[in-house]
Amino acid sequence: MSQSQDNPGFDTLAIRAGQTRTAEQEHSDPIFATSSFVFASAAEAAARFAGEAPGNIYARFTNPTVRAFQDRLAALEGGEACVATASGMSAILSTCLSLLQAGDHIISSRSVFGSTTNLFSNYLTRFGIQVSYVPLSDLDAWAKALRPNTRMLFAETPSNPLTELVDIRALAELAHTHDCLLAVDNCFCTPALQRPLTLGADLVIHSATKYLDGQGRCMGGAVVGDESRVGKEILGFLRTAGPTMSPFNAWVFHKGLETLSLRMRAHSASALTLAHWLEKHPAVEKVHYPGLASHPQHALAARQQAAFGGIVAFQVKGGREAAWQVIDSTRMLSITANLGDAKTTITHPATTTHGRITPEQRVEQGIGEGLVRMAVGLEDPADIQADLARGLDRLC
Ligand SMILES: *Cc1c(COP(=O)(O)O)cnc(C)c1O
Repeated sequence: MSQSQDNPGFDTLAIRAGQTRTAEQEHSDPIFATSSFVFASAAEAAARFAGEAPGNIYARFTNPTVRAFQDRLAALEGGEACVATASGMSAILSTCLSLLQAGDHIISSRSVFGSTTNLFSNYLTRFGIQVSYVPLSDLDAWAKALRPNTRMLFAETPSNPLTELVDIRALAELAHTHDCLLAVDNCFCTPALQRPLTLGADLVIHSATKYLDGQGRCMGGAVVGDESRVGKEILGFLRTAGPTMSPFNAWVFHKGLETLSLRMRAHSASALTLAHWLEKHPAVEKVHYPGLASHPQHALAARQQAAFGGIVAFQVKGGREAAWQVIDSTRMLSITANLGDAKTTITHPATTTHGRITPEQRVEQGIGEGLVRMAVGLEDPADIQADLARGLDRLC
């Protein structure tokens, strides 16, 4: 880092950590678009391949641009090591395949990203890994689901789309008394709002595709944690299996981190304003947002998170027809299931992100036909409100 502070603050790390200038003395970071690296001699090549000398060999396992992003994200999460991956899903896959083996058991919160459930239930099980699902916020259910072979607890907090939370510190204690790892998917909060490692989690997983980019351009993922698990075991898997992040994408994410904290505060402020407005709207039955006093875990959210995030879900009166009318009446909001973009997105979970689970599972998870999810972007909040009001006002 090119400044003298002994203990730099988050915003300083976001801008200064992870940059090593080349001899060109560039101010911004370069993109190292190279797949391989050359050696001064056969002896140097031999030493690097043997792991006896530091330095790059091949970009499937190290690239300076990817390393810059990894170092910056590790600093922001407060972790010793970070491994960047081609997508958020490949971060989860790499974590499981490098740290688990046949016969192991995972406990996952029920309301995780759909592809995560699919990966656990339909792929990892083929290789002898067992999985159970529990309601995210119910610590007793986590404890009851523990088996002698449980090796990993996996949680996403706040959850999608209902923004339920789990007490990370309590879940980490439970994991550690049973000698298992706690992995937290920190996609919705990012380290700008929540730092699971400082609360006792062992691994933090990211879909960099979302808020780390922040403008919907690139796919990427990352795992952050300690040197031995992440820096050695997960990197070892990546090096062999190859779900590597591209240098260009790493550069976009690395620059994205510089504005992460500002963006997350702005997403959160607008989301809170809109949540308050929605809660008073006569066509709205219920609003799910951790920043509202009506949220059952508002106090935990205030303690665990620096702000409440950009995801707001609301239940309109009148079921699917009414929800679709609100969505279809928007002119500015983007109808897409993606999130973490400067552009506000709106989606109907029951028929998109949660369309593949059974109607019974949706009822169990509280995902009704009238539910609408918004990932509040960075437009003027008054314009987002006006765009929603067009459909909502017609329902009254
Ligand atoms: C999008 C997402 C993922 C998967 O990330 P990709 O980059 O799409 O592979 C994982 N977890 C959460 C919470 C997500 O929103």
